[in-house]
Amino acid sequence: MRSTESFVREAERWSAHNYAPLPVVIERGDGCWVWDVDGRRYLDMLSAYSALNQGHRHPAIVGALKDQADRLTLTSRAFHNDRMGAFLKALAEATGFTRALPMNTGAEAVETAIKAARKWGYEVKGVAEDRAEIIVCENNFHGRTTTIVGFSSESQYRDGFGPFAPGFRMIPHGEIDALEAAINENTVAFLVEPIQGEGGIVVPPDGFLSQAHDLCRANQVLLLNDEIQTGLGRTGRLFCGDWDGTRGDILIVGKALGGGVYPVSGILANDEIMDVFHPGDHGSTFGGNPLGAAVGLASLNVILDEELADRALDLGSWLMDRLRELDSPHVQEVRGRGLMIGVEIKAESGTARPFCEALKERGILCNDTHHHTIRIAPPLVIQRETLEEALPIFEEVLRPGAVA
Ligand SMILES: *Cc1c(COP(=O)(O)O)cnc(C)c1O
Repeated sequence: MRSTESFVREAERWSAHNYAPLPVVIERGDGCWVWDVDGRRYLDMLSAYSALNQGHRHPAIVGALKDQADRLTLTSRAFHNDRMGAFLKALAEATGFTRALPMNTGAEAVETAIKAARKWGYEVKGVAEDRAEIIVCENNFHGRTTTIVGFSSESQYRDGFGPFAPGFRMIPHGEIDALEAAINENTVAFLVEPIQGEGGIVVPPDGFLSQAHDLCRANQVLLLNDEIQTGLGRTGRLFCGDWDGTRGDILIVGKALGGGVYPVSGILANDEIMDVFHPGDHGSTFGGNPLGAAVGLASLNVILDEELADRALDLGSWLMDRLRELDSPHVQEVRGRGLMIGVEIKAESGTARPFCEALKERGILCNDTHHHTIRIAPPLVIQRETLEEALPIFEEVLRPGAVA
């Protein structure tokens, strides 16, 4: 039998070194559990950054994938297929928008939202050519394309990748006055994560998103709501913006829309915005393909049918309360919503990575985000009893002396 080390060595030898994964080699998954090549079982409390809200290999999603794989996988948008329409109808109805534009990865969906907002700015708002501005937040994460990293505040995401696209202006996340001050006659959009995920599970003040949307409406600015990570049940509502009563003017979805089996993303908007796109303006070879559409529809239905948002709300509040009770000297703060939880480690206790390594040794897979935060985001299908069993392990690792 091959050892973990030999798989790691092989991957390190042949891959670009753009990641530093924990040294665990996973070969099988089921629900909230995964198994490594030595047969050890781990509780997956990362869920592939919330792309696995429905758990590993949900039977309804894998079933849809297999059925569709036996019929038709790709047509390109040069032709119609018999799957895309029903998927987009269900997605639009579930989100409350009139139209959807399907893409594959999250970054592509964000790029699509940027293009839609700019074109709307020129054609509907009347901004002068090439003057459109989009306001973004410090500490944002919207993907890895050159345009997107160009407006990141994280130097590692940018360094060496310029020159970058102009037309972005940065404000602190969650500060409504800063947003108001940044808006001018060329502003076409405000792009925001309702909770910053990669930025360290940063929750803005209550009401921020609704105030931002009011401000946007008053100034003819579009609210681009990036719910790629927060959406589809993760935060205890179908969308995180629902906590504030808004889904934005363009809703950006991805990750769990593919149920962890296939990349499916897209944007949702009403006619006034989506009508800026005409044949040939924008596209993707795989966007809207029948395999992705079948998987996307099944993935969405699992979220709705199994009421995963409600589960995230109940289990998340329970877990956050218990984590706060642990009263560890290493913990600065426990924050989040639903099952999107960050445990921030105090600066004097070092980074979150050794804590994640210690959790891995004890059968729990988490990851560290923004250096000091342990991200806890299990599949939403997880059982209360499983969380109860995981809790003493967190307690042990966060106890003085276990790691630091
Ligand atoms: C993951 C993520 C993206 C990028 O998605 P990819 O599929 O990795 O391109 C964009 N925005 C947010 C908020 C994300 O969490």
